[in-house]
Amino acid sequence: MSQCRLCKKQVKLEESHIIPKFIGKWLRKTSATGYLRSIDNPNIRRQDLFKVKLLCKSCEDLFSDTESYFAETIFHPYVNRENFSYNLSYNHNLSKFFASLSWRVLVYLTEFLNNETSPEIEKCKSKLEDFLLGIGNTSNLDQYEQHLIPLESGSQSLLNTKHSNINSYFCRAIDTDLLNSKSGSLIYIKIPNFMIISNINYKYINKMRSSRVALKHGVLAPKEYILPIEMQHYLDNRLTFIKENITNVISETQNDKILSTIKNDLDRFENSHTLKIVEADLYPNQFIFRDKGKPL
Ligand SMILES: [Zn+2]
Repeated sequence: MSQCRLCKKQVKLEESHIIPKFIGKWLRKTSATGYLRSIDNPNIRRQDLFKVKLLCKSCEDLFSDTESYFAETIFHPYVNRENFSYNLSYNHNLSKFFASLSWRVLVYLTEFLNNETSPEIEKCKSKLEDFLLGIGNTSNLDQYEQHLIPLESGSQSLLNTKHSNINSYFCRAIDTDLLNSKSGSLIYIKIPNFMIISNINYKYINKMRSSRVALKHGVLAPKEYILPIEMQHYLDNRLTFIKENITNVISETQNDKILSTIKNDLDRFENSHTLKIVEADLYPNQFIFRDKGKPL
């Protein structure tokens, strides 16, 4: 018996995914090899995303409802969109889902990976917990608003011309971090095709109004999204770091493994999302495996 990290009951704990399981499933299904590799340890191939003992069964169920809502209402319709315009309506379940995701990531980073915490971070955790459990005033999230930025592959930006791995990162990577700067802190969550930014005490959060997830209902559609300058520097450094320390250090044995898996199923490779993304990264002006008029 251990204590559930959310409701604090002494119970048998479940293995909880920090990043929802359906995302790992989608990555495997659309990959060239059928396996996942993590940013931290690319030399190990995996079947699933990371899990920790965090929640009891009923808290886990509480999360899984809003998780399915996000998968069905936003994630799958967006990744399967046929053209560059989209218009996805959502209700209160979306802010609930992002609050649960941000809370999980925050707990994981500070309590399992020992990232430094602060009174502001602990206050944020506790407000998200109350919101998720329906305690106190749940009609708003105070300053701890959630932001969603849909990512489009092949878009023109400074980051795009500078980094040859940007499409792979935007469309296929999972990444989490706590961003601290002199302007305050943000929770950063990157899943395939979406960036989720959750406020802790960032001074200029009101400049990011266009990406804020409405608490009751709203619409996700193409618009001008504003990334804080600290986030742009962060992404710039992150993309360089990934290229130098991860993409370039995958071992020869693992490379051979990838190649032989691909050779065994060339059809899968040819139709995979991975190949389209690699083409977009390496040959931005060629459309052999991609369709020019369709998003990736
Ligand atoms: Zn619980």
